[in-house]
Amino acid sequence: MTESAHSSLPGWSNPSFSMPGAIGGTPLIRLRKASELTGCEIYGKAEFMNPGGSVKDRAGLAIIEDAEARGLLKPGGTLVEGTAGNTGIGLTLVANARGYRSIIIMPETQSREKIDFLRMIGADLRLVPAKPYKDPGNYVHVSRRLAEEEGHVWANQFDNLANREGHRQTTAPEIWHQLNGNVDAFTCACGTGGTLAGTAMGLHDAAKQAGRKLPHIVLADPEGSGLYGWVKNNDLSASGSSITEGIGQSRVTGNLEGAPIDDAERIPDTEALDIIYSLLIDEGLSVGGSSGINVAAAIRTAHKLGPGHRIVTILCDSGARYQSKLFNPEFLHSKNLPVAPWLKS
Ligand code: PMP
Repeated sequence: MTESAHSSLPGWSNPSFSMPGAIGGTPLIRLRKASELTGCEIYGKAEFMNPGGSVKDRAGLAIIEDAEARGLLKPGGTLVEGTAGNTGIGLTLVANARGYRSIIIMPETQSREKIDFLRMIGADLRLVPAKPYKDPGNYVHVSRRLAEEEGHVWANQFDNLANREGHRQTTAPEIWHQLNGNVDAFTCACGTGGTLAGTAMGLHDAAKQAGRKLPHIVLADPEGSGLYGWVKNNDLSASGSSITEGIGQSRVTGNLEGAPIDDAERIPDTEALDIIYSLLIDEGLSVGGSSGINVAAAIRTAHKLGPGHRIVTILCDSGARYQSKLFNPEFLHSKNLPVAPWLKS
């Protein structure tokens, strides 16, 4: 990693004064209600404060720096990626700052806000119908084929280990430092698995080095994803669905392989939405769906571990990215989901 944000004291110094150097170093916020409810200390890493507005800025930067170091990405080069949106945003902004172009392939079901933002920042955005991974028309395969055919660099966030390595080298040491090594558990949902695996591995690295107990790692999964069953009984089959975006998975990605996962929680949308609304109205924190899933899993983990533990999770992106969904009464009604009282007109 060449950016200063990825140096020994991650995130807190930026002598190069570049935009990519401003990625990371995010605050850790004590979630008051969740902490009071459980008798634990529950913290959210405010990844929505990254320049591109999500935790995926870290993956975008790590993947680009890795491709540069390997000599794959040359000045004026083009990156191609299949993404639910946030990785596309992170990659495009870093690409803009470094003089590359980006082609972003995204399922058309993702939020209007992410689509508009990608267009706004100059990504060459190509929407494709949402298809399962086993279908050749799935956005990941479309992006791989396009990169191969046109000779571009394929970011390949799902299986490119530079993704989780970025979190191992930045997210985890930041959390460890912010809590002086007092981390009992970490909960996190998975899209690529980069955030969960990299942060879990980095927290374990730090705990081993300090001779402390290894933090308990919990995978947070929405309905319709196979990972809960995979952790619980090695069975990836799943049923149901979720309105959350960017998380849930039907396969064990390269980034997830070998991750030290102790347990899993499956969280219904109703539980995540309750938390999202409470974080907003009781604590002034605007977050998206995956953050709700993550905090729900942190609360369940706190109840399981008992009072007095310190539990960390990720606030992946902002609620503003989902105004047309999570905060839109019409959309919520159509999904039979509860509408927050202040949103009812
Ligand atoms: N939350 C949101 C909002 C995301 O966009 C993503 C990535 N698609 C994730 C969580 C999951 O992160 P990761 O890919 O590191 O598993």
